[in-house]
Amino acid sequence: MRAVPEPPMRAALLRFYDERARDLPWRRTRDPYAIWVSEIMLQQTRVDTVLGYYDRFLSRFPTAGELARASEDEVMAAWSGLGYYRRARLLHAGVREVVERYGGQVPEEAEARRALPGIGRYTAGAIGSIAFDRAEPIVDGNVARVLCRIHGIDQPPERSAVQKRLWAEAERLVQGPRPGELNQALMELGATVCTKASPDCGRCPVRAHCQAHAQGRQAELPRPRTRKAPKPVALVALLATRGRGAGAQLVLTRGEGSLFGGLWNLPMAEGRGRRVARALQEQSGLAGTLALRAAGELEHVLSHRRMQVQLWRITGARPSAAGSLAPHPIATVGELGVSRLTTKALEQLGL
Ligand code: SF4
Repeated sequence: MRAVPEPPMRAALLRFYDERARDLPWRRTRDPYAIWVSEIMLQQTRVDTVLGYYDRFLSRFPTAGELARASEDEVMAAWSGLGYYRRARLLHAGVREVVERYGGQVPEEAEARRALPGIGRYTAGAIGSIAFDRAEPIVDGNVARVLCRIHGIDQPPERSAVQKRLWAEAERLVQGPRPGELNQALMELGATVCTKASPDCGRCPVRAHCQAHAQGRQAELPRPRTRKAPKPVALVALLATRGRGAGAQLVLTRGEGSLFGGLWNLPMAEGRGRRVARALQEQSGLAGTLALRAAGELEHVLSHRRMQVQLWRITGARPSAAGSLAPHPIATVGELGVSRLTTKALEQLGL
């Protein structure tokens, strides 16, 4: 029986991947756990940044079993600096479930993968297609942009009807040999050729199939959605220290709130001024007689919050045993898994 020829767009994408894809460390493995780690790191984070963390994280936790056995502090310390810390906590929870329920082997069944904490349709599809060679589609920001342009879709990709269409197009395209490479070819095309700001149609392997290119609309598509500006929020933060020199300690709290989920952080409260700082000091269980000194301001921007933080300094701090605060040596604070805002405040005050 003669082999069925590849549809031309599929063949062009696979050829592009073979000839022009970047050599990235997670493309040299079929280990589903390693692919899972890379996909979670790559969510909302640039490839260049992830390159600095991926090998180190896998050397520290080479298997699902080793990550599952690690404490949350150890995982957060290895993740510190990558941001979006909820991802790390969900990865940790998901890997623990894989160890408990599947003996440490990432399940091959898509349904079982998608039931794990932190694994949505995209991550399940990436693991399924790359590690298990299954025809499972993926749609991330890059793939959505490429498909919107190829199909001339004239609405923002975030709309639910458009999402449905994009997943259906990706599903159609992934059917056939080498589904993992096909998915990665789409992502690679979006990352290196069909970029957001300047699609390089002259070098594009699928321009013959692209409606945006045929209509000269590649700069207009995909349609942008109207974005909300980060919400401004005023905060006071306490930099409470005890001791001096090499033995100096900083009083930290574990941020269970959504802003810095799971990371150690400065005690903070919304508002401005000495009265708010004093109330925070009392509420945190720091001895009430300690003097508060204004110590400057810093701005810290997350995707959804623009934080204007007033720093208040306390020396000789003694947190009460009953409170949620704990002193940590300043010299080793970086190993703890602290928020970037905390390290910025320490740098600003030369601590
Ligand atoms: S032809 Fe241009 S717009 Fe179309 S997919 Fe290629 S780079 Fe993107």
